[in-house]
Amino acid sequence: MTRLELVQLGRRPLERFEPIVGRERFRNGLAIAEKVSRHFAGRVVWNINSTARGGGVAEMLRYLIAYARGAGIDARWLVIEGTPDFFHLTKRLHNALHGEVGDGSPLGDDQRAIYESVLRDNAAELLAEVDPADMVILHDPQTAGLIPHLANLGASVIWRCHIGADRSNEEVEKGWAFLAPYLSRAHRFVFSRQAYIPEYCDHGRSEVIPPSIDPFSPKNQEMDEETVHSILVHTGLVEGPNGQSRTFIRDDGAPGRVEHRADVLRLGRAPLRTVPLVVQVSRWDRLKDPIGVMRGFQRLVEEGDPSGAHLVMAGPNVKAVADDPEGAEVFDEVEAEWRNLPHVVRDRVHLASLPMHDIEENAAIVNALQRHATVIVQKSLREGFGLTVTEAMWKAKPVIGSAVGGIQDQIVHGQSGLLLDDPHDEKRFAELLHQVLSDPDRARALGDAAKERVRENYLGLASLIRYGRLIVGIDSERQGRAAAGGRAGGGAVS
Ligand code: UDP
Repeated sequence: MTRLELVQLGRRPLERFEPIVGRERFRNGLAIAEKVSRHFAGRVVWNINSTARGGGVAEMLRYLIAYARGAGIDARWLVIEGTPDFFHLTKRLHNALHGEVGDGSPLGDDQRAIYESVLRDNAAELLAEVDPADMVILHDPQTAGLIPHLANLGASVIWRCHIGADRSNEEVEKGWAFLAPYLSRAHRFVFSRQAYIPEYCDHGRSEVIPPSIDPFSPKNQEMDEETVHSILVHTGLVEGPNGQSRTFIRDDGAPGRVEHRADVLRLGRAPLRTVPLVVQVSRWDRLKDPIGVMRGFQRLVEEGDPSGAHLVMAGPNVKAVADDPEGAEVFDEVEAEWRNLPHVVRDRVHLASLPMHDIEENAAIVNALQRHATVIVQKSLREGFGLTVTEAMWKAKPVIGSAVGGIQDQIVHGQSGLLLDDPHDEKRFAELLHQVLSDPDRARALGDAAKERVRENYLGLASLIRYGRLIVGIDSERQGRAAAGGRAGGGAVS
């Protein structure tokens, strides 16, 4: 293979889930995995997307496919190749489906010609690999144009779209109109939220499978208090005696150690470990509203906050992320705003740029920071799903999140976290912060319920169960049709 990249993956045992989800749920997962593995004996379940590294989709595919393989399923992952023109166009499409205008470039016939030509080249290689009896899961707009090629081959095709907009607008319509000609031949569509299912796909063939997290990854694995503090003291996020234990377990099972430090913009010293922390972790992006978070926190301080909390806003070091010039711009805006804060507030606000040399080390630092936080906030103005919310909930933290995108699905207000109805409402945000910081029992109850909600719905095993049911269902239908067609004298299987 030259154009298509086959991503090398190991196998992970599904059994790892048993101690954390309990015997019953684990058995349920195992039974479905065994069913899939029996159904697809000698056949392949392909996943196809456009990148093996970077971003939530690639991260999710890596572990979900490894668990499927561990359960005896021949699951494989191929990455398509494209030209710069193709990726420019698919970025534009991505923005459109989010409801944003992006760079405003056209989505017309020329772009369609580029899209189809790149996917035709990829399909030529793909069709030599895929058998008509296989199942193919295509991910995101970059691969939708492969649907007709695979359907013509006779393979079963699922199109999994990881993006969507809460409300449609002109851009959203444009994006879907571009993709529409390719969609109709897919057997099923999968979306992250009900609200993201567009008219074009809503034919009783769409399912919702929310994103999930891997509880064993460096980002989410258990971490004892000593390790949490050692990592935070070493990186400069918290002040205290240096600890010895800064280790974590890498995805491949090898030991890792946090070596790099964070680059933190602050007035004085780092907060002591006893100081309650309000934490937001996110890319430096205006839609994550970092300035709104600071202003809300300013209100909290100015209206009298007996907890003495500090605010830590953490994100990737923008100097290290060369392909994110907008991140650097937003960080500069946040810094300028921070410099304008009154001294007493600025004293308690820390802007942390986390090291990006080693993505698993970065994840372990995020893990430690989330575990140390008293309250985690995600005051996004818009959000696809909001994995930082899932991550925080899994760590049994009370989360205050804006009622946008998938945050609304994850948090049941007043039970498993608190929702900020109007994400721009800084006054209400400060009130919610005050509520959680001044009532540790309530904070604990919200956090405990949050963890249970993730255990039930948003761990990798839940995703595997949902995908397993879906593909067995599609395959059974197909076999049923084939049998009926056979009896009727050889009808075509769509
Ligand atoms: N993240 C990280 N390091 C950082 C900042 C963010 O690993 O310095 C991670 C965060 O933990 C989460 C992901 O980036 O897993 C962001 O996903 P989310 O769905 O919250 O937002 P997106 O960035 O996709 O809009």
